[in-house]
Amino acid sequence: MDMHTLLRETYIEIDLDCIAQNTEAIRHMCGQTTKLAAVVKADAYGHGACMLADTLLEHGADLLCVAALSEALELKQQNPAYPVLIMGLTPSSCFDLILKYDIIQTIDTLQQAELLNHCAAAAGKKARIHLKVDTGFHRLGIPDSENGIEQIRQICSLPNLTVEGIFTHLVLLDDSSNQMQYQAFLKVREQLERVNIHIPCWHIADSIASVDYPEYRMDMIRAGAILYGLKGFHKGSLDIQQALSFHTHIIHISEVKAGEGVSYDFTWRAPKDTRIATLPFGYADGYPRSLNGKGWVTLHGKRVPVVGIICMDQCMIDLSEVPEAQIGDEVIIYGDGSNNTLSIQEISQLAATNKNDIVSRLTRRPARVYRKNGTIYAVRTMLD
Ligand SMILES: *Cc1c(COP(=O)(O)O)cnc(C)c1O
Repeated sequence: MDMHTLLRETYIEIDLDCIAQNTEAIRHMCGQTTKLAAVVKADAYGHGACMLADTLLEHGADLLCVAALSEALELKQQNPAYPVLIMGLTPSSCFDLILKYDIIQTIDTLQQAELLNHCAAAAGKKARIHLKVDTGFHRLGIPDSENGIEQIRQICSLPNLTVEGIFTHLVLLDDSSNQMQYQAFLKVREQLERVNIHIPCWHIADSIASVDYPEYRMDMIRAGAILYGLKGFHKGSLDIQQALSFHTHIIHISEVKAGEGVSYDFTWRAPKDTRIATLPFGYADGYPRSLNGKGWVTLHGKRVPVVGIICMDQCMIDLSEVPEAQIGDEVIIYGDGSNNTLSIQEISQLAATNKNDIVSRLTRRPARVYRKNGTIYAVRTMLD
């Protein structure tokens, strides 16, 4: 890699062919009657939402889903034609932006629906919405009670709203809790049909549910993790590959004498004379600080331990097993698990968190290098 373009020795590589193949595999799994909503919140889980959007839509995604208005606007400013659903709530003072950019908004109270209906009427437009129903997660949603059904009925009668869809979200505790939520959601549909309300698009499944429970795919799935090749499912199967890897290079080598310490607080001391390399990445790049004393990286195809406390911008590794290492040598911070690399699955276990957290915490500072057809397609630094 050309450091003059990257501005630093640390970068994240994203394989767009892999994103395309994963999208096609998910599209194939869904079949023709189920839509695929690609979840690109949190900057596409650290992969770069604007860089991935075209690949996702060209290879089978029908809709882009984000959590927040700012994320929707970033996509719409790149291309006003992108179909974007905000799965979270938007402050009612920003409803003008929803209308201006033709964004599909999630609504979960009658009051919000009335406010959006009012804004839409004032603008001479119809606002596009999906309703959210609470079937037990207790995060967002209209309750799946009698009263909730009545609220939905009233929302559906507002003249300046188009209710394009309705959804709920799974707790994913176990089979029986999933089944209870799914049945509760079907019951909402039955009750609405009884009062002659027919909402076109019903959805409940995230990545895990869409692979493990084919019947939950309904009219649309909301797939995040699996687009990026992150496998959390356990019952079904889907042929996907991890698209992201994290790279750096040795920038400094110290000769540390037996008994001397490394990094803040000297939590690690050299048991013998040891060569220590400094790597230019730290927790401010999105590497979990909780890996103190547990992390390892790959150098010359070997696993090499990270020693001492992980700093904000740097960390140190023990070169004992790789005596030939030199300044400038490439280090893989994490990869897909092949060739002795630490996979995102493994690093999430070491850090006691989940895979989505590992990638979505990646910050803007490391450049993103996009590969397509085996060559470098684009580079994005903080300045882009
Ligand atoms: C994040 C999110 C998803 C996608 O989750 P994955 O597990 O990454 O597939 C789906 N639906 C909602 C409401 C979400 O917030």
